Amino acid sequence: MSDTIVATATPPGRGGIAIVRVSGPATVQIGRRLLGALPPPRVATSAQFRGGDGTAIDHGLALYFPAPHSYTGEHVLELHGHGGPVLVEALIRRLLELGARRAQPGEFTLRAYLNGKLDLAQAEAVADLIDAASDAAARAALRSLEGEFSSRVLALSQTLGELRVHVEAAIDFADEQIDVLSDRSLKARLEAARTQLEALRAASRQGRLLTEGMTVVIAGPPNAGKSSLLNRLAGHEAAIVTATPGTTRDLLRERILLDGMPLHVLDTAGLRSAGDAIEAEGIRRARAAMAGADRILFVIDAGADPQATGYLEERALLPPEVPVTVVFNKIDLVPRGIKLRMASTTASTIPVITPSTTASATAVSPAPAAAVIKLSALTGEGLGALVAHLTACMGFEPGGAGALSARARHVDALAQVAASLAAAARQLAGRNAPELVAEELKQAQQALGEIVGAESSDALLGRIFARFCIGK
Ligand code: GDP
Repeated sequence: MSDTIVATATPPGRGGIAIVRVSGPATVQIGRRLLGALPPPRVATSAQFRGGDGTAIDHGLALYFPAPHSYTGEHVLELHGHGGPVLVEALIRRLLELGARRAQPGEFTLRAYLNGKLDLAQAEAVADLIDAASDAAARAALRSLEGEFSSRVLALSQTLGELRVHVEAAIDFADEQIDVLSDRSLKARLEAARTQLEALRAASRQGRLLTEGMTVVIAGPPNAGKSSLLNRLAGHEAAIVTATPGTTRDLLRERILLDGMPLHVLDTAGLRSAGDAIEAEGIRRARAAMAGADRILFVIDAGADPQATGYLEERALLPPEVPVTVVFNKIDLVPRGIKLRMASTTASTIPVITPSTTASATAVSPAPAAAVIKLSALTGEGLGALVAHLTACMGFEPGGAGALSARARHVDALAQVAASLAAAARQLAGRNAPELVAEELKQAQQALGEIVGAESSDALLGRIFARFCIGK
């Protein structure tokens, strides 16, 4: 990292103040030429930012952080000027002239990682904190940024390291007939490590739900009330609601917070046979979206179709691996005494969730058959039960207490650790060769190492930091 980078640290556009940040070895020399003299370390100093001909570009505050006591671990200069895009661009052009180059997305944080200021999980938490869509998500990201996630990963890795030493001793001293593997304490320590891992997995799964949320596709026949349900969930008019079938011709995407968990809702074109090419394309997209969703909400007009024949007809066409909740909509139109139930042989195994069902009762749901919810998108009756059902399906604990922000790659790595530890426990129980136990423990440690970046490839770093904004 011999070059010096520059970027605006504040969002683009007009504002009271814009901060331009410079990091790298040439910072000292660039600062002297821009400001006349370098300000004393870590003291906000009033200064003129000067162009090549000596005229002022702007006047503001300069802050100098000598290496290694800076965000990136390099010499850093922060220039706080007036927040106008033209001024900012003129200042950046001047800094480029003085030898800096424009930063890539996430490059400041990448440097912080490479200089040991943050580990990889903390660097990712920086991006999660900036992108946090709720208080709970921000708190989870801050806990990870402050190192809670990383220190729990490292503590687990250390425990596994100690177990490995123990097991490898059995390999080294095989002649001495020390039966290390039948040692009860080894088994107990492995079980303790697995419990420690499960707690960490639970906290990171909650964190992942806070950042990535759940994707549902609203499907069903035209006029069933799909757009109305989306609007109800979103609380505003995102979809055009009309009484003519086939109005929603494309996918509508909405991001809604359900008790802090983002819900990505896709409203699809009706699934009826296509009348024209545009509608056929809409149906094709709807099917593709369904295949990638966490759950399908299949909306039925309860008044017109109280036995959900619309769903039963479509069921074979839906992706079999995606769970379905059948939503009997328009219950406000259903006269008392009319029973809403699917005319299916599996109907008795289907948990029926009515507006009065409590959230805890919905948590027992995941039956292979579709769950059923009855509601009215028009009046809002039953909507609370739908929200509780959706969060419960994902295992989300509202409020996200104790959650640690985590990415899909962290959750996957922890799943690998769990698989390796389960295999180690099996080898141990079967009194198999200690080498096999040691190998599983080693693989578990490697997977933990990937989370904090102890074992990271350039390709992985590229993928992670490319998702950052420029200037971060
Ligand atoms: P989509 O084609 O499935 O998206 O259906 P829309 O959301 O456009 O709704 C079709 C019609 O049903 C509209 O006239 C809505 O106002 C009406 N509608 C939707 N939900 C309800 C409901 O819960 N009760 C009643 N009475 N009408 C509804």
